[in-house]
Amino acid sequence: MAKMLKDTLKTIESYKTQNPHYEELLAILEEILILREEYRRKMPASIFPVDERLISSKMEGGLPLIDLSQGDYDLTQPQAYFLDLLHIAEKRAPGETKELARKIMEGEEDFKEMLLSAFYGEQEDEEERGEEDETFDLIDLFLEECLRPAFEKVVTGYGAVVLKSKWSEGYCPVCGKEPKIGEIKEEEGARYLFCNQCGIEWPFLRIKCPFCGNEEQQTLAYFTVEDDERYRVDVCNECKRYIKIVDFRETKEEPNLDIEDITTLHLDILATEEGYD
Ligand SMILES: [Zn+2]
Ligand SMILES: [Zn+2]
Repeated sequence: MAKMLKDTLKTIESYKTQNPHYEELLAILEEILILREEYRRKMPASIFPVDERLISSKMEGGLPLIDLSQGDYDLTQPQAYFLDLLHIAEKRAPGETKELARKIMEGEEDFKEMLLSAFYGEQEDEEERGEEDETFDLIDLFLEECLRPAFEKVVTGYGAVVLKSKWSEGYCPVCGKEPKIGEIKEEEGARYLFCNQCGIEWPFLRIKCPFCGNEEQQTLAYFTVEDDERYRVDVCNECKRYIKIVDFRETKEEPNLDIEDITTLHLDILATEEGYD
């Protein structure tokens, strides 16, 4: 794993030179990945219990392995990781997150509730967030990130079983989150979707919308930017959703989708401008 981290950091360094525009975001990601490695190592066992007898029926029924809204799990480690992640924001905007950290430590803020509302995408009113937008986006990112080592543990333990099952949904088989990015790989050009929450990738039909299940070729399309075919955005004109897709087959590189997701923010902006979300 340490070697992988080293390679990843190298990729980030070269991306920083290629895309000075993304330098700051990549620097944040770099810090996150170093911390993630530390917490991966510290993770004793998964905090999410998996009932092995239920795996195949869950997969066949389209139910993710873990239902975050159910059950009691020990959040000691995710909370410690989250508080460490907050330092990354605090360094950049001193004073902005100190109060939040204090509230969590003193129990004034319910950490589990924060996690759940970030996970299920319950956003605060845009107006209420106002000027502090940027810090708050980072906090959403950290709330997702702090559960990543725990979900990765589930993937390590059951990912292979999950991938052997007949999972055909457009949301993650492990946690149920919707993908934002995916990749085309293998000779025959199979499409895989990626879950930022767990780091798992699963195969999904190429001519099908992951969000509404639409399979009509006429209403499915994609666009690229400046004819760079390595990056494209698959869109569905039925539900008006989109997903970013990376295709590195030509250069035989293995994309790191955590990094690609960050360095393709311009594609998110374009897709949103075109009316997709
Ligand atoms: Zn997931
Ligand atoms: Zn759709």
